[in-house]
Amino acid sequence: LNRNRTEVCLTVDTEFSIAGAFANPDLYQPLADPVVDCPADGKSQGLGFLLENLAASKTPATFFIEALQTAHFGDAPMGRVVSRIAAAGQDMQLHLHPCWLRFESSEWRQGNGADDVDYDSCAGRGDSELDRFLAVGMQAFSRWGLPRPIAMRTGGLVVDTAVHRALARARVPVSSSIGLGVHRPAESALALAGGRHWIGGTLELPVLSYKQPWRGGHGAWRALTITGCSFAEITSILWQCRRAGTSPVVILTHPFEFAKVSDFRFSRIRRNRINQRRLQKLLWFLRQHEDDFRAVSFAQGHEAWLQAPPAQSPEITTSVANNLVRQVENGLNDRVWSL
Ligand SMILES: [Zn+2]
Repeated sequence: LNRNRTEVCLTVDTEFSIAGAFANPDLYQPLADPVVDCPADGKSQGLGFLLENLAASKTPATFFIEALQTAHFGDAPMGRVVSRIAAAGQDMQLHLHPCWLRFESSEWRQGNGADDVDYDSCAGRGDSELDRFLAVGMQAFSRWGLPRPIAMRTGGLVVDTAVHRALARARVPVSSSIGLGVHRPAESALALAGGRHWIGGTLELPVLSYKQPWRGGHGAWRALTITGCSFAEITSILWQCRRAGTSPVVILTHPFEFAKVSDFRFSRIRRNRINQRRLQKLLWFLRQHEDDFRAVSFAQGHEAWLQAPPAQSPEITTSVANNLVRQVENGLNDRVWSL
């Protein structure tokens, strides 16, 4: 038995949706339950599917719970989600999308008519603003009866070093707010593809990003997600991390990745068979290779990570063949509603 197994952190960003309300305030209200639940065929194809399969495979995961939406929804809708995740014994940490704080005043109705991404950025903020985001989020956690978070993830993986310093002030020791395949931070010190890195007194564990070596520039990067990668790619990346000694490997997913939705209002919802099967295969793979891999939550892993020396991220790549498989699998899945 190999005692130094490669840790795998399955992370689930659990959040509600503005769903067009900023662009069309008279027409649309933000959406809560359907975005997380994704009900179809009499079942929850999102959160319900995830919790059921994590329980069946005895896999711990970390749910990053978006807390600033309480400015619009109050405590109840996410409180119900939190109760279900707590009943399943899964880990919950803090996720912050600052765009929700626009609902604190009526000013959001006088926006420029577009979903302006700057409103949702944790980067480029002043210290007092960041302190407030964290305080509002942590107060929501406390009202939901959750333990104080030990980790935070910024919305859209948009981050700068001021965020890491704010986390240190708030005594939240871990961040997972970088994912080069999703967003490239402006500061080159934050161009991190994986591993564990001390930044301004906070330990950063980026979502793993890997390179498509035949593509140049920033477009070469992809983040390790369930919806964006084929199963062959995911396992190839896990084995590369295993050989390179990269641990933990942080995987990103969302409840809605396991459903297909007809439009941004979630008017019609179906089960996403391909993504559901892919997650089930990944959970089975981790069980089959327990000598090499160990699924851990942030709550379970953080004490050891904080003690250990930082770990650089090696360059993980995907092959042309794996890329073609993924394009066929995902291209069909995205285009064909009934698949
Ligand atoms: Zn998010």
